Amino acid sequence: MIDPILERLSASRRPLVVCDVDEVVLEFLDPFDHYLNSVGHRLHPDSFRLHGNIRSLSGDIAAADDMVERMQEEFFASQDRWQTLARGVDRALDSLSRDADIVFLTAMPPRHHDIRRALLDRHRLDFPMIATEEPKGPVVAGLIGGRDVPAVFVDDIAHNHHSVRSHAPGCILMHLMANRTFRALAPALDDDVVIADDWSHAERLIREHLGLMRA
Ligand SMILES: [Mg+2]
Repeated sequence: MIDPILERLSASRRPLVVCDVDEVVLEFLDPFDHYLNSVGHRLHPDSFRLHGNIRSLSGDIAAADDMVERMQEEFFASQDRWQTLARGVDRALDSLSRDADIVFLTAMPPRHHDIRRALLDRHRLDFPMIATEEPKGPVVAGLIGGRDVPAVFVDDIAHNHHSVRSHAPGCILMHLMANRTFRALAPALDDDVVIADDWSHAERLIREHLGLMRA
């Protein structure tokens, strides 16, 4: 799945924008909470994690780890019923794609690739997508390859930024997270991570950092 993407990119001289999907391109936490409500649970924003914060509506009892895993699995398997676009992402990526190559890199089990692909396509976000649970740094380094092109990596999770920093040191790291409640609970970001408030802000910052003309 990754090889045709690499082959296409290897001939390109355009800047590269690698985007995470959950909480960056697609809303994740609000839709996941809606799904949880449908199975008698709720996600409480008590800390920056799922485990321990998913509790039953009836008895306020925290779901055990294996149940959280099962609920995440069921959610991803039916994600097209729940997940919506992050505000402004379609307009921003449509605009950026005229000047840069866009690749989605989602840390989701690859078995859910097809349903996510169909969901993104339905919103005309038909950029190539890699679904892998491997660390993101080596994947981003592979996407850049030996090319001398500027690159930006957009993600909401600090350890993904760490991974990309160590494997693709020239890549600009950008934090974007759709859910403001959980964003406020996120651990402090490292100084070299550029913080985007929303997609309109992200597009401005990406254009600035990649040396692209304003849209
Ligand atoms: Mg994410």
